[in-house]
Amino acid sequence: MSSASNMAYEEWKLGLPSTPPRSTLYSLEPVGIGTPLVECLTSYITRLAEAHCVFPGILMHNLMGPFLQQSSVYQGSRESMAVGQAQNTQSFNGTAQKRAGAAVYALECLTLQRSLRFLTLLTWEGAFSAHKLLRRTQTWCPACLEEWRSTGQVIYEPLLWTLQVVTRCIRHHCELYTACPHTECGHSVPWLAWKTLPGHCPSCHQWLGMAISAQNEGDEATLIWQQWVTEQLGNLLALAPTVVVPPPRTRIHEVLRHALQQMGPERPGRHKEFARSLGVVRGTYSTWLSKQDIPQLETLLSMCARWKISLYECLFENVMALTLHSDLGISGPSKYKYQRSVRGSWGTPQVQDALEAILTDDEFPPPSLGAVARRLGCYPASLRQHHREVCNALMERYQIYLQTKKQTDLQQYCEEVKQAARHIASQGKRPNSHQLAKVLKKPGILRAPEIREVWQEVLREFDTHL
Ligand SMILES: [Zn+2]
Ligand SMILES: [Zn+2]
Repeated sequence: MSSASNMAYEEWKLGLPSTPPRSTLYSLEPVGIGTPLVECLTSYITRLAEAHCVFPGILMHNLMGPFLQQSSVYQGSRESMAVGQAQNTQSFNGTAQKRAGAAVYALECLTLQRSLRFLTLLTWEGAFSAHKLLRRTQTWCPACLEEWRSTGQVIYEPLLWTLQVVTRCIRHHCELYTACPHTECGHSVPWLAWKTLPGHCPSCHQWLGMAISAQNEGDEATLIWQQWVTEQLGNLLALAPTVVVPPPRTRIHEVLRHALQQMGPERPGRHKEFARSLGVVRGTYSTWLSKQDIPQLETLLSMCARWKISLYECLFENVMALTLHSDLGISGPSKYKYQRSVRGSWGTPQVQDALEAILTDDEFPPPSLGAVARRLGCYPASLRQHHREVCNALMERYQIYLQTKKQTDLQQYCEEVKQAARHIASQGKRPNSHQLAKVLKKPGILRAPEIREVWQEVLREFDTHL
């Protein structure tokens, strides 16, 4: 026998090899977990649908909804996954278990990804008030989208862009966009629509990114405030995966009580003084202390700025170790720099200067008094009380702008209706309201008497030529 015939072969194990569990859907990796620019859940759903070559509406309606209906954990939640008319789809990114929690559960089961809750604000359910937290429709930085596309990176929407309090991109120093920039469209963009594609407008299907130059011409206080807010929230979103025990709802109340104690012993007017130091009315502050409510995110951030602590410290540091400065005379990174005075009043010469600067500025469209008050971090009534003359001038300028705009819009609508009606007539069809409604962006304008007149004129022309 040859030596080859005596060779010992390895032993074969004939049992089936162990295979890792298989996911129903493609196990798409989420973008940016553990970083300030972590993706939001609606962005993940959009990308997941794209990876399967289906519309997000189909994914939600045909897969996620039925999956949840059969699930024992979130039974009866099928309807909560419907994209429908794209209303309220922002809540998939929010703090509510019913919507964000259910969507995360379904997606984690279907993709076997285990960290999708960090694409929502579920970790911050106890820290963030749901009131005025999320934007109803998308905001985005066109420069970020363009940069990601040109460098071959994944196109997605960061969770930061879903927050109402964030209005600028601090990477590109520009305002976030809130409506489709293509002139023939101009629609707002829902977080999730039936046919959403990453980085595209679901109305006109055009690309939403573009290279834009830095816009640093806004007032300096707002720029500093936005930089600070974005950093605070970005840090918090990046830390979410490391949070073992999320801050409970009582955390903010504890911090507020500690801040009150630091104002000194009980004395008449102490609560009023404290409320004023936080820039809120006594009633609002009372609902916080009685634990019925927690401050809105923007108010919480402004309190941190006044106390000179980070949002992270406010939510996680040992409360007793926090030193909270409630004296407003000290400057800090806040948009409230104008309103600070020793007595926390808005009647200071700095506020007068700020108002006059806004009045003499060529800003277009001019801001309403409400918008000016928001910029300065106070109420319109407070401004009117102390600076009546300049406030009246601001209001008058805004009214003139509104009237002019109304006239310009009306002329534009008249022209639009006239052209649309003539176009329909040129095709041999009578330009009735049904036909016009199909082509007009806002069919409701046909109710305006001036527009009806223009329309009736074209109808008469059509009828006489029959
Ligand atoms: Zn950007
Ligand atoms: Zn569009």
